[in-house]
Amino acid sequence: MSFELNLHFQLDLFDQKPPDHVVERPSKLLTQNSQLRQEGIWNWTLPALYAKLPDGRKIITCPSAGKCAVICYARFGAYRFRQVRERHLANLAFVVEDLSGWEQAMTTELRARRFQGKWIRIHDSGDFFSDDYLSAWLRISRTHPKVKFYAYTKEVERFRRLVEPNPPPNFFWVYSLGGKYDADLDVAVDRIADVFPTREAIRERGWHDQEASDLLSVTGASPVGMACNRIPTAIRRLGDRTLGDWQRESDRKAADRKRST
Ligand code: SF4
Repeated sequence: MSFELNLHFQLDLFDQKPPDHVVERPSKLLTQNSQLRQEGIWNWTLPALYAKLPDGRKIITCPSAGKCAVICYARFGAYRFRQVRERHLANLAFVVEDLSGWEQAMTTELRARRFQGKWIRIHDSGDFFSDDYLSAWLRISRTHPKVKFYAYTKEVERFRRLVEPNPPPNFFWVYSLGGKYDADLDVAVDRIADVFPTREAIRERGWHDQEASDLLSVTGASPVGMACNRIPTAIRRLGDRTLGDWQRESDRKAADRKRST
C-alpha cells in the first residue's frame, strides 16, 4: 500500500468534520494540560494528522505520519471533546490564514514573565507541517532565548534541511518513530523516541524511560522509550512490538510488494 493510500485509510479513521460555525481566533495561544502543569510546561497544539477548516480546505498537519496514525493518542479520550477539537482547529486556522499574525501573537505572548525560564512543548498533537511554519518557530525561539522549546517530530527531512545545520540553542527535539522517514534515522546519531507496549519492554531493550518527566525526551539519555497509552484499541493494535518495529514491518512489506509488481 502506498503512503497516499495508507494515509487515506488513516484519514477515514480520524473522521474529521469541519465545524458548521465560525471558529474564533484564540486570544491566548499557550495552554497547560493537567500533566504538563505539574511540570510547569506550557503547550501549543494543532489537530492530529489533518483537519478541515471551516472554508472546506483540508490541511494535513502530520504529513510524515506512518503507523503512528493508527494508534494516535489524539484519536481518543479528551481529544475527541468538541471544545478541544474546536480549540485545536482554531489554532490551525490562525496559522494557516495568517502565519505572520500568529507569529507576532506568539512572540508577544511569550514576553510575559510567567514564561521566562519555562519550557514550551510545541505540539501535544500535530507536527511541523510546512517549511514556513517550522521557520516561524525557529524565529520565535531565537527571539526568546530565556524560554526553552521542545517537540517530538516525525518531520525528519524538514529538520535535516532547516534545523540541524543551525538550531537555536533553546530549541530541542526528539525524532519519534512510527513515521514515513524512520529509515533515515540512526539511533547512534539521532535522538530518537519509540512507543513500547509496556515500561518493562523499554528496560528489556535497554532504552531510557521518560515516564518521570516528559522533558527527559529531550534532556535525558537517548534512545527514549515511552509506554503505549492505556487505550485498549491502541494496545491491541500495537501488540508486543514497538511502533518503530511496526513501521519497519510495514516498510518492508511495501518494498516487497513494489519489487513483485
Ligand atoms: S504524528 Fe503524532 S499527532 Fe500526528 S498522527 Fe502521529 S501520533 Fe498522532
